[in-house]
Amino acid sequence: MLRVPYVGRFAPSPTGPLHFGSLVAALASWLDARHCGGRWLLRMEDLDQPRVMPAAADTILRQLEACALQWDGPVLYQSARLELYRAALEKLRARSYPCACTRKELEDSSLAIDGARIYPGTCRTGLTPGKSRRAGRTAFAVRLRTGADPIRFVDRVQGAIEQCVERDVGDFVLRRADGVFAYQLAVVVDDAAQGVTDVVRGADLLDSTARQIHLQRLLGIATPRYLHVPVATNAAGEKLSKQTCATDARPEDLPRALRFLGMDVPAEALRMQPRELLDWASKHWNAARIPRDRTIALEG
Ligand code: GLU
Repeated sequence: MLRVPYVGRFAPSPTGPLHFGSLVAALASWLDARHCGGRWLLRMEDLDQPRVMPAAADTILRQLEACALQWDGPVLYQSARLELYRAALEKLRARSYPCACTRKELEDSSLAIDGARIYPGTCRTGLTPGKSRRAGRTAFAVRLRTGADPIRFVDRVQGAIEQCVERDVGDFVLRRADGVFAYQLAVVVDDAAQGVTDVVRGADLLDSTARQIHLQRLLGIATPRYLHVPVATNAAGEKLSKQTCATDARPEDLPRALRFLGMDVPAEALRMQPRELLDWASKHWNAARIPRDRTIALEG
């Protein structure tokens, strides 16, 4: 039987340095790729320029290098690939529509699973003049017309997942009103373009996966395997981030990150340099030992 070689990736948003939570995601995807003899690609998800921090991408590269998380091939920057997203949006033209609703106008809609608002479909039937104030607006987003069919997939850690995108999220944005291509569109285009077979990332993105599979089907591209690792939170249950004052990830965090992923780290491994430690860990990696939680609170 012909087996497709494993291609993994890490796709940070350069909005700040890596913290413990993003180090865990990088480490899990690196270990899974190396354990399977695969390639590990690096992609900077820098489309949301207002949120990008100028020096963050370089800081992330230096942090990964210091932790011996070596990537294969050139680093890909989404900001240099707008043509691809434009082409994908064009392919979806018959399935999408312009939307001029403001955030304020959506405030009364129910909350979607990811905390955003479920789009009530206001602009689905068009921005016809006279129909509403929306018709006169010039800035509009592009939304995908979703369907009622449930999307099902089996996550390697979180198990069987089912989501009805239309009911649980609603018609979601492909390009924002400020012209920025949405993460959901760009991630699908790039994972396919880079030949990614295995997406390993934090469980905060588990609820995005059905949207991504929906897009893959519409664009006629293959669905990779998915593995979502628990997200590290502080004692208050908040995801680690700049806002929650998470400290920058350092090589000294590697043993703790390995334990977070369910590995037993023997005393002799604690004396190893990052390269040797990761070499040891990639040989002993067992994805079946990753805790099946979506979040895990760190002590202290
Ligand atoms: N750029 C996303 C983030 O940093 C991750 C994207 C992905 O792994 O699919 O949250």
